[in-house]
Order: sequence, then C-alpha cells, then structure tokens
Amino acid sequence: MNETNLLCAHCRAEVGRTDKYCHECGIRLIAPTAAEKRKEAARHAGAVAVEAGKAAAQGARLAARGLKTETGRSVAACAVLGAAAGSVVPLVGTGLGATLGAAVGFARKKF
Ligand SMILES: [Zn+2]
Repeated sequence: MNETNLLCAHCRAEVGRTDKYCHECGIRLIAPTAAEKRKEAARHAGAVAVEAGKAAAQGARLAARGLKTETGRSVAACAVLGAAAGSVVPLVGTGLGATLGAAVGFARKKF
C-alpha cells in the first residue's frame, strides 16, 4: 500500500484515494454505498408513485368516456379491478394497476 494519489478516469486530474468526487470535473470516483443506493431507490419509488397518480387520473377519464360503449364498460370494469389489485401492492400503485387493468380489458375484448 502506498499513499500516492490516483488519476481521475474522466479528466486525468490527480485525486485522493478516499475522495468521493473528482475536484476537477466532479465525476463520481467511488461506487455508491448501500445507504446511498437505498436513498436513491426510495427517491425513485416516490417518482413512480407520482407517475402512477397521473396514470390513475388518465385511467379514470378513459373509463368515464368508455362507459358509453360495451367495450368501454369492460375496460372500465377491468380498470377498477386493476386499481384494487394495485392498491394491494403499494409499489405498483393504484394508477398503474388501473392502467394495466384497462389494458387487460382491451385485450379480452379483442381476442
Ligand atoms: Zn475528473
């Protein structure tokens, strides 16, 4: 073991062995820790939940519009089932469940 510094793989600047980021170009020098990965995963899950909420609103609009037709009723029913299934699995989210349910409704009608 010696104390010589390493070179940044990105800009070739000298960086300390324990540096997390290059002081020249700011690139990450070491892999994220387990705690940082968990934090990132939690942040991502939050973003997914926001997207699921948007999908739920869209699914509800589609279902309301589709109720006038037989296909629409089938899609709406499946969307409700999907939403129920989605709320059982929190990570999937109600909106995503509704979207998947609506897709299943379309597929059932088609084939
Ligand atoms: Zn660098």
